[in-house]
Amino acid sequence: MTPVLALRSVSKKYPGGVMALNNVSLQVSAGELLAIVGPSGSGKSTLLHLVGTLDLPSSGTVEIDGQDVSTLPDRRLSALRGSRLGFVFQQFHLSDALSATENVATGLLYAGVRRKDRRALAVEALNRVGLGHRTDHRPQQLSGGEKQRVAIARAVVNNPALVLADEPTGALDTANGRAVLELLRELNRQGTTIALITHDRDIAASLPRRVELRDGRIVADTGGAR
Ligand code: ADP
Repeated sequence: MTPVLALRSVSKKYPGGVMALNNVSLQVSAGELLAIVGPSGSGKSTLLHLVGTLDLPSSGTVEIDGQDVSTLPDRRLSALRGSRLGFVFQQFHLSDALSATENVATGLLYAGVRRKDRRALAVEALNRVGLGHRTDHRPQQLSGGEKQRVAIARAVVNNPALVLADEPTGALDTANGRAVLELLRELNRQGTTIALITHDRDIAASLPRRVELRDGRIVADTGGAR
């Protein structure tokens, strides 16, 4: 089966000469839940930008669902990002002016879903993350843990091939962080493929697969498809 994500000998050199990623190869299969872990400066954000199709490698290829992203024109790339990837950020990135349902529905804007269907799908996604009772709340009326659940609902509303979660528990207290992690596990059990980027070794240790970055190289990979 085509991996949902394949990096083949990917390097990224920034102007100034920093080699942020150095010959990285990585494959992720559908259904995986993996941690990409490493200390500050190891290349995690760079990897996230490349996989998120927000930047291109200096050499090597990034394939999502078998598509080499460097071959796609901008419009197709935006469509791929909107339809095949879901993003969860440390700071939630919700719009304060929108209700929980409307925030989640923004995850469908580029998916060609009709307006009237967006709301129903958004409510369904909020139910999946346990927020069926908060559909009309605005972010400022929600706790940090609830905000992250809304963001997770937005990331999965479109059934993406891959969810990229960047330090998703970083802004939460221990109990809410644990609950969010448990939610991601549950979504994974239901079939969502998730890559969680973290510098937290305990979180990484609790996931089925750990890919460890150091100085732009993968220094350990505990399993999964290669
Ligand atoms: P992490 O997310 O693990 O902290 P980064 O990917 O942000 O690591 O950074 C990896 C290396 O690349 C670091 O040495 C960092 O200073 C450098 N770097 C990151 N972004 C840029 C940039 N835009 N220009 C130059 N160097 C950068």
